[in-house]
Formats: sequence, structure tokens, C-alpha cells
Amino acid sequence: MFHVKQSEKATPNEDFGVDTPLAREIADLSARRQKLESTSVEFTGKTRILTVSNQKGGVGKTTSTVNIASALAGMGARVLVIDLDPQGNASTALGVPHSADLPSIYEVLIDSIPLADVVQPSPESENLFCAPSTIHLAGAEIELVSQVAREHRLRTALQDYLAEHDLDFVIIDCPPSLGLLTINAFTAATEVFIPIQCEYYALEGLSQLLGSIQMIQKHLNPSLHLSTILLTMYDGRTRLAQQVADEVRGHFPEQVLNTVIPRSVRVSEAPSFGQTVVAYDGTSAGAIAYREAAVEIASSKTQSKEN
Ligand code: ATP
Ligand code: MG
Repeated sequence: MFHVKQSEKATPNEDFGVDTPLAREIADLSARRQKLESTSVEFTGKTRILTVSNQKGGVGKTTSTVNIASALAGMGARVLVIDLDPQGNASTALGVPHSADLPSIYEVLIDSIPLADVVQPSPESENLFCAPSTIHLAGAEIELVSQVAREHRLRTALQDYLAEHDLDFVIIDCPPSLGLLTINAFTAATEVFIPIQCEYYALEGLSQLLGSIQMIQKHLNPSLHLSTILLTMYDGRTRLAQQVADEVRGHFPEQVLNTVIPRSVRVSEAPSFGQTVVAYDGTSAGAIAYREAAVEIASSKTQSKEN
């Protein structure tokens, strides 16, 4: 479905005469960048819908959503990010206005306005779009309870939108909970993407998340499956990060991407400039890792239902 071409293997930059850990790191980054530059991915027009979920807070859901989206758009994919978190962090990071007076995903869910009426282009790329969230979405969990077809509202809106717009990827950023907003995302998507922070307690709560996915498969959306796990905020200097990574890979050998996202100041400061790190500092370690992860996702063989 997706074809990844790589020209000849990139060779490490040998300009760094001194053999120090920093010189090695720079040479490694430079080689990885060259390899990315010589990688091209073709998109065939079939839309993949991923929901980025983990009920644990602060594990890198939003950071992964916006950076994978930006990296995919940079490779030529047409990408829509749906910000389903009342915090609106994904909208901010994509440079998309989301003040309370603007129509947002809240009106799509509660008032059934078309998704096309709220989607905005991201200044980051002509291929990148965002359905922003506003603070009103904070009330939606409760307001949805009394709505007809409360679990299907996002799915219906998205299907209507996709009937008229060609997209390669839809990526939904979920809040850190398993409430009705996340259930709407699970019902609308086919793939679940779980970012896992390489810290103690990383796997805690994961069985609850997997249980929810199974429930959704059974009752609301049989095509939903866990396709991708991304290890985030990895600090290679600690043995704990390595242990967590090994443990997650042991449990989910098929789903964990080879790429791990390093902990990096550039990643954390990019949103304050209304940018992803891919746009803010495309040659930094975090940006390169997110671009590599995006290539893995685009060429993933787990798009179809496997588990
Ligand atoms: P929430 O559950 O609140 O929605 P989240 O899972 O979306 O959080 P993020 O907002 O992406 O998590 O990240 C949490 C914090 O960690 C943010 O301040 C972000 O900038 C920072 N962060 C994310 N990834 C990295 C990284 N690789 N290196 C350094 N900081 C990071
Ligand atoms: Mg978030």
C-alpha cells in the first residue's frame, strides 16, 4: 500500500575528527538526517484514521500527534489533526486559533455542525489541517451523555467530511481519560496509537486502556485495533528507560516502533512558539526521531486488523 524507497545507505559524517560522545552523537544525527532526506514515501489515497490515546496524563500524546502529523505532511501526505482535548494543546502547537468564540470540534459534537465548518489550515504546511478544540469542550463529556448516538457523533461527522475531502491520515488527539470524548475517538478510528513514556509506572493503567479498546471492538467498532506504540521521553543515560523500553517491547513486539523519541528541551519548547519541533528545529534530535517514526508509521504493515 505504501512504498518506501531508500537510496544507498547513508554513511556517517566523518568530518568530526575527535572521537567524543558528543561528536559521535552529532555524526549519528547527521547520518540519520541524510538517510531521511533520501527516503521517499508514496501515499495512495486510502485514509488511515489513528487515535492517539493513553489515559495517563503527560505521556506525549499531543506532542506525538502534532509532530507525526507535521512529519507526514512534510513527506507529502494530506493530514487532518482533530483536537479532542479541551486543553487545546494540539491546536496551539499547530498554530491554529482556538479562542472560545471560534467554532470548534465542540459544535461538531454537540450541535452537529459539519466538520468542514471548523477545519483550519495549519501555517506549518499546506497539507496540514486542524479541527481545533476550545475550552467549551470541557463541558462536552457531560453534555454528550444525553445526546442521541452519543458514541458515534465524531464518526458520523468525520465520514461526512471524508466523503468530500481527500486525506491520507486523520490523527485524533485524546484527553487523558477514558470518557465519552475518547470513546468517540475510538468509534471514529481504525487504529489506536499509544505513546508510552519511558518512566516508572509506564505500564500501569495500560490494561485498563486495552480493556476499553476490547469493549469498543465488541460493541461499537469491530475494526478498531492497536497498531502503534511509541516510546517517548527516552533518556538513554538511565537504566530505567532501557528497562521500560525492553518490557514494553516484550509485551508488544509487533506494535512498538523501532524509533524512540528522546527527551529533549527543543521538543518541549516548540509549542510556546506555536510550532511543532519538526518545524521549529527540524535538525534537532527530537525532530529527526519524529520524522523517523512517521516513516515507520507510513510504511507500517499493521494498518489492517491483526489482533
Ligand atoms: P495530557 O495528558 O495533559 O494531554 P500529553 O500526553 O498530551 O498530556 P504532552 O502534552 O505531549 O503529553 O507532553 C507533556 C509535557 O512533556 C509537555 O510539556 C511536553 O512539552 C513535554 N514533552 C513531551 N515530549 C517530550 C520530549 N520528547 N522531550 C521533552 N519534553 C517532552
Ligand atoms: Mg495532550
